[in-house]
Amino acid sequence: AIPLTVLTDWLHRFRDAVVAQRDWLTELDSAIGDADHGANMARGMTAAVEKADQTAPATADELFKTVGMTLVSTVGGASGPLYGTFFLRLGATLGPVSDVDPAALAAGLRAGLEGIVARGKAEAGDKTLFDAVAPALDAMDAALAGGASAGTATADAATAAATGRDATIALVARKGRASYLGERSAGHMDPGSASATLLFETLAAAVA
Ligand code: ADP
Ligand code: MG
Ligand code: MG
Repeated sequence: AIPLTVLTDWLHRFRDAVVAQRDWLTELDSAIGDADHGANMARGMTAAVEKADQTAPATADELFKTVGMTLVSTVGGASGPLYGTFFLRLGATLGPVSDVDPAALAAGLRAGLEGIVARGKAEAGDKTLFDAVAPALDAMDAALAGGASAGTATADAATAAATGRDATIALVARKGRASYLGERSAGHMDPGSASATLLFETLAAAVA
């Protein structure tokens, strides 16, 4: 099972990654959005991890609820409610546990994606973070179904997220600010799919 310390480490690593990649995420958003995705994610995750460190939750539901609620309240953009809902659903699905089986983690992440869809109505190919998260979870499920370890399954998820992220370059945006550009949104990577890939890369690094 994956202990809460590893899940906490994941959140620290994701915070560090969005802070380190803040300028890149903002540059991606400047091409097809309003140039704030890096600032949104860095501000939100810095506040969320700070809050989690202060309250030191003893269970997964409390940990992810703290992170989700802080993201919703500190990030004004689309990404705040979307990532916030993702973490809230993840925590609610995991429940008051301090160790998480890989299959339970996969189910929690899937519930998180369902929360993103419930809020934002994104479908495959809309050029959103869905296009990184959905293939990542499919890869994770397939790996676990084949008997892979949590380390392998999360590494497979990270690889699939990056492939999905890269595939957003060719897409025309149908959701979010980038959709205002219509055909002109093609040829640019979706910023949310880039941050979502960092989410899965840091999960794999924490679990490894
Ligand atoms: P904003 O667009 O409000 O400035 P951000 O720049 O922080 O917010 O986040 C933009 C990202 O949010 C997009 O790149 C996209 O991946 C994601 N996004 C936007 N709208 C949706 C939606 N309806 N469903 C899923 N993801 C979305
Ligand atoms: Mg933006
Ligand atoms: Mg904005």
